[in-house]
Amino acid sequence: MKLIMLGAPGAGKGTQAKMIAEKYNIPHISTGDIFRANIKEGTELGKKAKSYMDAGGLVPDELVVDLVVDRVGQADCKNGYVLDGFPRTIPQAESLDAALAKTGDKVDYAINIEVPDQNIIDRMGGRRACVACGATYHIVNIPPKKEGVCDKCGESLILRDDDKPETVKKRLEVYHEQTEPLIKYYKAKNAEVEIDGTMDMNDVFDAIVKLLGA
Ligand code: AMP
Repeated sequence: MKLIMLGAPGAGKGTQAKMIAEKYNIPHISTGDIFRANIKEGTELGKKAKSYMDAGGLVPDELVVDLVVDRVGQADCKNGYVLDGFPRTIPQAESLDAALAKTGDKVDYAINIEVPDQNIIDRMGGRRACVACGATYHIVNIPPKKEGVCDKCGESLILRDDDKPETVKKRLEVYHEQTEPLIKYYKAKNAEVEIDGTMDMNDVFDAIVKLLGA
């Protein structure tokens, strides 16, 4: 099962992608996590990506496409995967499709999690992420057991630069301009499915599982 998560930043793609990956035993591939890991390690890729991310913009396609195409070609992706945060532009989607077509593959479902902008703004201000393992929390909806500390690895939780209010506004603009057109793109391929992302995260997950029919 080859899945893509669509939706605005903060719509809950990451949370749902992790739950899907666990249930169906497929890798969860988050380009945002890959970039953040590279920034932390101080790699060349990380250095290049950071300025775009901190400004709320997208990292250029050429820095992300090869990375994802390589990743989905690895052995653990043989039975499928869930892509979270990729594609984010039409050229990225086209590159992915072209790479998959070489082995007669295609994206099975593009799961579009719909949440109005105002809900996103409210949600993202409360989001906290672990500096070490990338686990995400929300101060109201998914609080960690101990404030400011990751349940999974004990490291500190932070408000990511790209979750700060001014950056969120910019990220929503970028989403509407560059990523939202993907809904139409996957609709035309009969791959797009829509989920009401304002529901409780477990209800969103149940709706996804129902749609996937497994
Ligand atoms: P995310 O964790 O998916 O919200 O991603 C955080 C940031 O990483 C985004 O705001 C972008 O700057 C960058 N990013 C992640 N995935 C992509 C992508 N597919 N294309 C371009 N930039 C990306």
